[in-house]
Amino acid sequence: MKLYKKQELYIYNSLTKTKELFKPINEDTVGMYVCGPTVYSNVHLGNCRTFLSFDLIFRYLKHLGYKVRYVRNITDAGHLENDGESGEDPILKKARLEQLEPMEIVQKYTVNFHTTMASFNALPPSIEPTATGHIIEQIGIIETIISEGYAYEVNGSVYFDVHKFNEDYTYGKLSGRQLDEMITNTRELSAQSDKKNPQDFALWKKAESQHIMRWPSPWSVGFPGWHLECTAMSTKYLGEQFDIHGGGMDLKFPHHECEIAQAEASTKKSPVNYWMHTNMLTLNGKKMAKSTGNNILPQEIFSGDNTILSKPFSATITKFFMYQAHYRSILDFSNDALLASEKGFNRLLDAYRILKNIKASSTSDFNVTEWRQSCYDAMNDDFNSPILIGKLFDVVKIINSIKEGKITIDKSDLNLLQKTLHDFIFDVLGLEDTVATKTNDGTKLTKAIELLIELRNLARDNKDFEMSDKIRDQLLEAGIQLNDGKEGTTFSLN
Ligand code: AMP
Ligand code: ZN
Repeated sequence: MKLYKKQELYIYNSLTKTKELFKPINEDTVGMYVCGPTVYSNVHLGNCRTFLSFDLIFRYLKHLGYKVRYVRNITDAGHLENDGESGEDPILKKARLEQLEPMEIVQKYTVNFHTTMASFNALPPSIEPTATGHIIEQIGIIETIISEGYAYEVNGSVYFDVHKFNEDYTYGKLSGRQLDEMITNTRELSAQSDKKNPQDFALWKKAESQHIMRWPSPWSVGFPGWHLECTAMSTKYLGEQFDIHGGGMDLKFPHHECEIAQAEASTKKSPVNYWMHTNMLTLNGKKMAKSTGNNILPQEIFSGDNTILSKPFSATITKFFMYQAHYRSILDFSNDALLASEKGFNRLLDAYRILKNIKASSTSDFNVTEWRQSCYDAMNDDFNSPILIGKLFDVVKIINSIKEGKITIDKSDLNLLQKTLHDFIFDVLGLEDTVATKTNDGTKLTKAIELLIELRNLARDNKDFEMSDKIRDQLLEAGIQLNDGKEGTTFSLN
């Protein structure tokens, strides 16, 4: 029986502002769309936090036995500087600055995004569509919205008529903003604007002469508005109504609000059942952002090459640090917090390794089944990873007590304990035992051990038995056994 049939998962829905029992539209399949990066610079750790939060969600849904179609786009056109609405296209700006083609910029930073996510051991999404690959679909949606009467064309650009839409639907229901308030809060339109109202947003923009990325359309040679790409790609791959839509909190308004309006105006249906928003990673108490320069890059953390760091930290430790906070809480980045996470994670892995060498008894003092369910309960409560990690640490203490012979565990409980730890540490949290991972490809660890075997042989030749024994014993302590035979010395991992 699939695990999801035994577990009740609750998800905090930003639209209703309540935790709701998760029921996918199709019983065993989940459709999830997450807004991807705008690829004009290296992703910073704040961006990574959001994508890693959704990696955890993706992994847990899969772990529960759902078939998940996870769509995460690449924004390679249309996202202008001011909430996508006006100003320059940052991709074009960067292309000019670096004297590259806009598509070279897109490629460069898409590769950076992919390598960064891979270094965090994040799973790739099922589909990763690009805005520029879906111009035809976007034009189709604009035509429908115009024919439904919720958009108008002016001088080759097309705008969504927020006021007209709000007569029939509710604009602002996700962000909780009222149109009346938006009207009083918006400054007067500049004389050049073609919009009927400042709240209207662009569906299509006529390209100015310097705008290189442009496509023909019924209205002008131009480019789509930013919000439209996500409506086009989510509908195309997940249908007019799908289960989960996610992104960072800062995308709630206007981006996601506009997505809802576009979908309702073109399909008359509410597109998403569960809206999920992740909270921000901060640095010095302020949001990490590309634009302000208040950010840290993952590569700086892995190399230690940043003045706020006392040493390098691995991707797994960085991720563990982030999962020690719930995805809806603000999290502040600091060197001390990373040091504490490193200590904690090593303790957890040590316990996991100790468990492999523990001998089972005929009795059990520890109720593994109950503890295992408490791990699921944590994740079922809106993917509460800090509570889950707390549960994993509870068992570290138990494992040490078993090792010391203070409490007993029988064979089936021992197996279940091992399996549960493995499932949550490696499959659900997607953390890595880096030594083990490196051993899989054979190279680095093997070379180091071979060198130690050579040094041990040298020590033996020199009759330095103290040294040769020390090498053998300490390797054994680390779980690496040397086996002396006729053909020389081989090694095995315990
Ligand atoms: P962008 O490339 O700017 O569209 O951002 C990609 C994703 O990163 C979006 O979902 C943003 O909400 C998210 N994001 C940006 N800054 C932060 C931050 N400081 N903490 C967490 N998520 C962020
Ligand atoms: Zn989006």
